[in-house]
Amino acid sequence: MKKKLDLLEELQEVDQQIDALKVAQSALQAEMSGINQGVDGAREEVAAFEASLAQLEAEKIELESTHAAELDNIVRSETNMKEIKTNKEFQAVGREITAAKKQVSDLEESLLQKISQIEDLSGALAAKKSSCGELAENAAERVIAKQAEIDAVQSDIDTETVRRENVTKGIPASLVKKFTILREQRRGQALAIARDGYCMGCNMHLPPQLYNNLYKYEELLTCPHCQRILILKLQQQ
Ligand SMILES: [Zn+2]
Repeated sequence: MKKKLDLLEELQEVDQQIDALKVAQSALQAEMSGINQGVDGAREEVAAFEASLAQLEAEKIELESTHAAELDNIVRSETNMKEIKTNKEFQAVGREITAAKKQVSDLEESLLQKISQIEDLSGALAAKKSSCGELAENAAERVIAKQAEIDAVQSDIDTETVRRENVTKGIPASLVKKFTILREQRRGQALAIARDGYCMGCNMHLPPQLYNNLYKYEELLTCPHCQRILILKLQQQ
């Protein structure tokens, strides 16, 4: 029984080691996600700039088309003027042409503004693309390094898993099962040290007969309070 208990202790140690490694690995994976999210965010910003630029370009084309139509209107009105017989009509078309010319001038003003906006945004987009490119390059290196760390931890997990298999070979399958279930139920601690008549797992006093039986190593004994498998340790370690 003593040997089995020693093996159970080793099993607990291996399992805790594996748990710690898995926690470390998850943290590394979270860092990896963070790096990738940073790049995704920068790419989304670039895409948003590109969409705004496309919008401005479309508005510019619209203005150009309206501008061309207004110019056509002026030419048409001026041609019509030659056909006009009355002074009243002449004045009316004249007002139309003046209004159209004012419209053309406003459109030209808007076009210049639009072109200036497009230039500004193009500059900002180029800068954004460049910083995004640098970020992506830098992130790619960090992702490779992070992956190497994750792989190294995985290799440790694999080693510990092999060690666990070897340890469990020396323990009856039913006991490994009991241990595993207890570990799940007792927040990773299937074993508890018994010392000075107490269970160190739950800090409860153990029945004296049970405590005495621990010295005999005849059977597997569990704490009546927390159900953990008891391991007798006389000295604090
Ligand atoms: Zn207990």
